[in-house]
Amino acid sequence: MAWDFETDPDFQEKLDWMDGFVRDEVEPLSFLGLHPADVKNPKRNALVRPLQEQVKAKGLWACHLGPDLGGQGYGQVKLGLMNEILGRAGFAPSVFGCQAPDTGNAEIIAHYGTPEQKERYLKPLLNNEIVSAFSMTEPQGGSDPTGFVTRAELDGDEWVINGEKWFSTNAKWSDLLVVMAVTDPNAEERHKRTSMFLVPTDTPGVEILRNVSVWGGQDGSEGYVRYTDVRIPADHLLGERGGAFVISQTRLGGGRIHHAMRTVGACKKALDLMCRRAVSRKTREGTISDKQMVRMHIADSYIELEQFKLYVLKTAWMIDKYKDYRKVRKDIAAIKALMPKVYHDIAARALHIHGALGVSNEMPFAGQVIGAFVMGIADGPTEVHKETVAKQHLRAYRGVNDPIFPEYSIPNLRDAARARFDMEQLVAAE
Ligand SMILES: Cc1cc2nc3c(=O)[nH]c(=O)nc-3n(C[C@H](O)[C@H](O)[C@H](O)COP(=O)(O)OP(=O)(O)OC[C@H]3O[C@@H](n4cnc5c(N)ncnc54)[C@H](O)[C@@H]3O)c2cc1C
Repeated sequence: MAWDFETDPDFQEKLDWMDGFVRDEVEPLSFLGLHPADVKNPKRNALVRPLQEQVKAKGLWACHLGPDLGGQGYGQVKLGLMNEILGRAGFAPSVFGCQAPDTGNAEIIAHYGTPEQKERYLKPLLNNEIVSAFSMTEPQGGSDPTGFVTRAELDGDEWVINGEKWFSTNAKWSDLLVVMAVTDPNAEERHKRTSMFLVPTDTPGVEILRNVSVWGGQDGSEGYVRYTDVRIPADHLLGERGGAFVISQTRLGGGRIHHAMRTVGACKKALDLMCRRAVSRKTREGTISDKQMVRMHIADSYIELEQFKLYVLKTAWMIDKYKDYRKVRKDIAAIKALMPKVYHDIAARALHIHGALGVSNEMPFAGQVIGAFVMGIADGPTEVHKETVAKQHLRAYRGVNDPIFPEYSIPNLRDAARARFDMEQLVAAE
């Protein structure tokens, strides 16, 4: 009977080290006007590279990867516990070699890339020498990838790409764009019409029209990218022609749970700050933490956080068990749908309890609330994920066609029970 909520003492030691290291060395980096993805910036590198070396020396570098790719192969549960710590600090994933979107892009290159593609991109990506962007969403709509119109056409031994992509995160710092484009518009199966390409960002015809910020962000890093007659050699196709959907699912399954793991950390931080304020802020004869309604905010936040964390870890455990994201699709979709609500509610309470300071730009809460909305949109909106949960869950009910008064109606259950147990006879037998 294996049902255990404890962390091995050896691993707990690593988590304790991470906790102190992130607090003391990594969290301050967010306040220096630098960006974790700006990998060509000498100031950023002077600060980040030595920290990355310390992480490597501790055997904690790129822990989402198996040993074949330089990671530890810890699996998702351990990764969940680690990401809970990394979720507190914007720079932490880069310092630990597990920053999105590079993690997902490296994963698909490792999975589908040719030896030449791996040689050119995988190593520098895994070493955080370059960054990459995933260029899939288009301005006219991202939730339905069958509506994408960016085209790639084969011309001799080159692909020619034309179209526009929107919210290609980190495009402006990237050396590599992973681009999804329609190659076979007439393919019978809609999901086989698009293919994935590796496009060096400096290819002529690639143009970043704007770098958009998420509201409140200082530094726009969401690339609005136009591709005009962008020519790349035929061997820059990633995986099979028509295979973009399968490839993107490989990428997004892991990405979604990793976001959820880091969101546990962000929620924990908000709850921590909420409690500190509640016990420190004086009102009338005591502190605001003496007030019943404030205590309710704290209790609700704790309860929601614990539920969410356990569900994330259980889903991580299932991924470790089945080693197949498809088998855990329902639960990955469920935590993706749950994440924005839990994050929003806890961050909003933390904001509220801090009063005017809470809404100001001197506190992180407004950014967290917007961050919660981002979590409900990026990698697919909540509605789409709830639809997946319902669809997957209803599979178990295929073929069920109950009558108007089903067998589980109380009169029917009563009749069935009476038919089974002859009460008169039972009493007589006593
Ligand atoms: C911070 C951030 C980073 C991102 N990074 C990347 C990136 O690196 N690469 C990339 O390619 N994309 C990226 N995206 C884009 C993201 O994947 C899309 O925003 C997302 O898929 C939704 O597409 P959309 O914005 O076009 O919204 P739309 O598709 O226009 O949807 C808008 C709203 O319509 C409703 N809706 C849509 N479809 C359905 C449905 N089937 N059922 C019910 N309601 C529905 C929902 O309320 C939804 O929020 C990022 C987005 C954000 C916010």
